[in-house]
Order: sequence, then structure tokens, then C-alpha cells
Amino acid sequence: MHVLSPLRPAALCLAAALLALMPAAFSPAAAQAAECGAQALGVSRTIAIDGSEGLALGLQTYPRTLALADHEVVLTFDDGPAHGATERVLDALKEECARATFFLVGARAAEAPALIRRIVAEGHNAGHHSYSHPARTLRLMSEDAAQADIEKGFHAVDAAAGFPAGAPSPHFPFFRFPGFADTPELVRWLGERNVTVFGADLWASDWQEMTPRAELELVMSRLQAAGKGVILFHDPRPSTAAMMPDFLRELKARGFRLVHIVPGEGPTPIVHAKPGWTSATEGIIAKTLGPKGLRSEPQEEGRGVKSR
Ligand SMILES: [Zn+2]
Repeated sequence: MHVLSPLRPAALCLAAALLALMPAAFSPAAAQAAECGAQALGVSRTIAIDGSEGLALGLQTYPRTLALADHEVVLTFDDGPAHGATERVLDALKEECARATFFLVGARAAEAPALIRRIVAEGHNAGHHSYSHPARTLRLMSEDAAQADIEKGFHAVDAAAGFPAGAPSPHFPFFRFPGFADTPELVRWLGERNVTVFGADLWASDWQEMTPRAELELVMSRLQAAGKGVILFHDPRPSTAAMMPDFLRELKARGFRLVHIVPGEGPTPIVHAKPGWTSATEGIIAKTLGPKGLRSEPQEEGRGVKSR
């Protein structure tokens, strides 16, 4: 007893600590079970992302992505919020107890704070997509102007969400470049700010006009081919909002499982692209912006954008 007694308080402390942690760690699942039942898609697991690793993920743009198992998907939505469509997307996610990451435009967030608060209250990530979503892209701005636009976006989304001023910013350290038009300098700077950059592994092409049925068939065919991945939608798109309930039901029916990303400690599980990988988005950017939009070659990284 004499030997054991000093251990007992420690053991009790550990048990108490675990008990204290459990409600926080398990409440989403418990709430999910209570609200949705077994028929809901739900979230099968979370992946903690460590922003300090300075990662840029998503095979359409970067030669690495999140290490997902077969039939695991991560849902992401760009360009919101937009009254009307975003509520429909949130309703669909809620119905299935699904969780997603929204890459929000700061200027739009500032005009729709109640929607940002709803996104956060319903367990989603209020990530970032710049303040102004500049048509000429952040890549073609000066580095100072691009950083200022990104910072303004962080603050606009966090303020709309109701996170107190002076709290660590951004609250959700996830960023996606508008049009995927990054620069090595901005990616490095975001990493220094402990922000992870997300591209995507596949998308619904929902920036094009199509019916909800056509969008559903397109994204499911791409998902069947890829087998897994980080999927990009645009919540302001009416076709996306309209097809989201069917899409989530289809995921469940075909045995896909939802993974939710959360800020946390690493190491972030990543997988590298196969040999011969090339960026799909650089070709799209070149078509959109012309030669001046092409990303600096790696050997030019050290030159910096400021000298341009
Ligand atoms: Zn965008």
C-alpha cells in the first residue's frame, strides 16, 4: 500500500483527465447518433492537421495530399457564403450529420455573419479563401497586397464567426488560393503563419452551368475513378446546393465514408504523388491568365515576388 499510494492519485488524475476529455472528444459522435441515427452518413473519423508543418495539399495542384483510405472523402466548399444556396448546403449536411470545410470569401462573410456563425455552430470549419477573391488572382498582385488581402480575409471571417479580437488568428488555419493561383512565397508565408494550404484531389466542375443531375453523375464518376479524395464544390452554385442531399445519400449508398479535418497536432498524414505527377491547375491558370500567370519555376523561388 505504501508503494501504491503515491501512484493512486496519479492514476485517479489520469482517469479524471480522460473522463474530462471524453465528453469533448466524443460529443459530436454522441450528438450525431442522437440526431441522425444509423442511416445518416455521419463522420467516420477526423484527421488533425498541424499548420506548423507548412503543408500544401491536394493532387490537382500539389504533389502530395492527405493520406486517406480507399472510399474516404473530405468535403470542401469554396466562395461562400451566399444567402439561399449556402443554407441549402448546410441543411443537407445537417440532415446527414456530415461535416465539411468552407473556404470563405472574407468580404461575403462580413455581409452574412449569421451564416458564418451557423457554419461554425454546426461543426464545420470556417476556412479562408482571401478577402476579395481577386479576379486577377493573388498571384498577379504584389506580395504585400496579396498578404494584406489574405489577412483581411482571416479577420473578416473570424469577426463574422464571433471569435474574440486578439484570439489566435485565423481560428481555422486552413486556406485555399482563389483559382489555385498560389506563389511559392505566399505558400511559405502561410506556413510560417501555421496555416495549411488546400488544393483539391477532385472537383465537381460546378463553376460550369449544368443540371444538378449532371453534376451528381459527373462528381460520382470522378469519385469512383479516384476512389477517395478531397472534393471541391462551390456552395453558392445552385446546382451544387440542389444536388447535395442526393450526393450525400449516394456517398453512403456506395460505401464512401466521410473524414473531417480539424486543426490539431501533427504529424499530418500525407501521401506523395506517383512519379510523373503534373499539376492540373497550372494548365487551367495558364489558359485563364496567359503566360504571365504561370507559377515561378522552383529555381526562381528565392527571387521573391517583391522585386517584380
Ligand atoms: Zn474561389
